[in-house]
Amino acid sequence: MPGKQPKKTFYNRIRLLSLTSAFILILAVPFLNRYCHFSFIQGWYQSLSIGHLWFVSPLEGLESILTSRKLYGPLLVGMIGPVLLALLLGRVFCSWICPISFLSEIMDRLIRLLTGKKFRKPGIAMPRRMLWFALMGEVMLAMVIGAPVFVFLSPPGLVGREIMMATLFHTLAIEGVIVIIVLLLHLFSRRLFCRHLCPLGALIAVLGMARRLKIRKDKEACIDCGLCKRACPLSLDPAKDESLSAYCWNCGECVDACKPKALGYTWSSSRPKG
Ligand code: SF4
Ligand code: SF4
Repeated sequence: MPGKQPKKTFYNRIRLLSLTSAFILILAVPFLNRYCHFSFIQGWYQSLSIGHLWFVSPLEGLESILTSRKLYGPLLVGMIGPVLLALLLGRVFCSWICPISFLSEIMDRLIRLLTGKKFRKPGIAMPRRMLWFALMGEVMLAMVIGAPVFVFLSPPGLVGREIMMATLFHTLAIEGVIVIIVLLLHLFSRRLFCRHLCPLGALIAVLGMARRLKIRKDKEACIDCGLCKRACPLSLDPAKDESLSAYCWNCGECVDACKPKALGYTWSSSRPKG
């Protein structure tokens, strides 16, 4: 029998609904564009237009500015929404929208069904600060070669690009193999790419350092059982206040796992740790 999962809170149900809807959107948009001549929504999460609104991923936008050395007004405007989201809520793009997260969650459910284990072990552990090096390395590489590397090779972006290529041109781009590698890494080590290697996740984490939405512990209620750490996809330990760190993506898995209800969402302006 598969291990019984903690009951999902309303917040976590909405999060899973958002992840699923976001994936369905990037799946449906190329079909609608191609076969129904529907052009109100176009693109995917690197660059998405909805009517006259344009949303640009902060990292792809930053890369374009640095490599072209030009400030393009519409690009800056397109970055405002995603940047504000990160400033207020932290890495919620990762836990609420990213297609890599969606595919990883599907894999987690299949693994749980097959193994019956409630929580997966994190597997390979590297220093958390690797994430910052991934961001710095990627930005420096883009500047040295003078091309927006992440625009072409971002795993979250590649999912949307591959769907678009398959729908419009009935082919796949070779770079799509990067998505398979990222998912294989997840198979052997939980969220390895997201924990340590994703430059986009890192940039959003930097932006979200002073976010308002955080998960805090009630010291009196915490019995230090360790369930929250086992539930965390990023191997953070909310009992040690690591949910206040920049790395936390506010998924709420730890809140659901905490039996004494010692963890909860807070909205505040104080600066988080680390
Ligand atoms: S860390 Fe990167 S790949 Fe992982 S969820 Fe965030 S944006 Fe997506
Ligand atoms: S600390 Fe909690 S909210 Fe933050 S990433 Fe881990 S499980 Fe999700």
